[in-house]
Amino acid sequence: MTTTKPAVSFLGLGEMGSALAGALLRAGHPTTVWNRSAAKAAAHLDAGATVATTAADAVEAELIVVCLFDHASVHEVLDPIADRLTGRRLLNLTTTSPDGARELARWSAAIGAEYLDGGIMATPEMIGTPQAGVLYSGSRQLYDDLRSVFATWGTTEYFGDDAGMASLYDLALLSSMYVMFAGFFHGAAMVGAAGVPAKEFATRAAGWLRTVVPAITEYAEVIDGGDYSVPGQQSLEFSDISDIVDASRAQGISTELVDVVQRLIHRQIDAGHGTDGVARVIESIRHPEAAA
Ligand code: NAP
Repeated sequence: MTTTKPAVSFLGLGEMGSALAGALLRAGHPTTVWNRSAAKAAAHLDAGATVATTAADAVEAELIVVCLFDHASVHEVLDPIADRLTGRRLLNLTTTSPDGARELARWSAAIGAEYLDGGIMATPEMIGTPQAGVLYSGSRQLYDDLRSVFATWGTTEYFGDDAGMASLYDLALLSSMYVMFAGFFHGAAMVGAAGVPAKEFATRAAGWLRTVVPAITEYAEVIDGGDYSVPGQQSLEFSDISDIVDASRAQGISTELVDVVQRLIHRQIDAGHGTDGVARVIESIRHPEAAA
């Protein structure tokens, strides 16, 4: 049967690469797969994949998707086959730093390949569902031409021709998530020291976080407006978290996490901004060595 769907090759079939390749195979794309450990590639044979025995043999397709462990492994796989990549279109879905993505974009340009970087906001099980999203940056032409392929995995969003931007957004969103989860772990340890099961606390914390999270939109308006003294905000002085620090210590748990938050708040109070809104904490983060 002939197909008009673009042919796609995958370099890297770990948990994520396998999920991405599987979704394209189910959608009817001619799909070639290569993985360092051959067994993971062979697992896609029954689904109709062409299995390449070397990375060099896997790069004839319209789109080459790279989903390896890290930036170094991308170079380890691509450098030896650089001459085969001239004129090819690369989508790198390996998590890299923003500068790592920019370096790969320059490397690709130098060998005459087109480069698009992607930040996957999903777990492998979510790929192919509306809950999955991938952030893209780099070649606009590549993004526009093959967007229908990317839509197979989930929602798509393009963040400009600076190849590092998808990674920057990815890591910024993950930083929000990790710090929020750390807050949950801290709260669970506080009540846990009084014998409360984490599961019991989790149901309350989930409801509480759902209630308070919409406040970030108001904080964002203040930050973008640049005036932290706008009336009606919770002030920095009111946001002092000494009670939380003291209660944590009294429960016999670490105060490291809440100490950090308290320090960020107090750097602004100490600089004379105590009556400003709590969103001013971003200034402590923006200027790590400054007092204001
Ligand atoms: P994984 O299951 O650990 O797979 C890693 C893949 O990289 C395997 O195919 C492995 O090959 C290959 N690899 C590692 N070092 C290599 C090297 N030096 N040369 C050749 N191949 C090498 O990881 P994953 O979950 O698929 O993640 C892949 C990428 O997606 C990572 O950058 C990760 O951050 C990103 N990501 C993952 C998730 C997730 O939830 N899993 C979510 C978002 C983003 P072998 O099979 O031979 O070891």
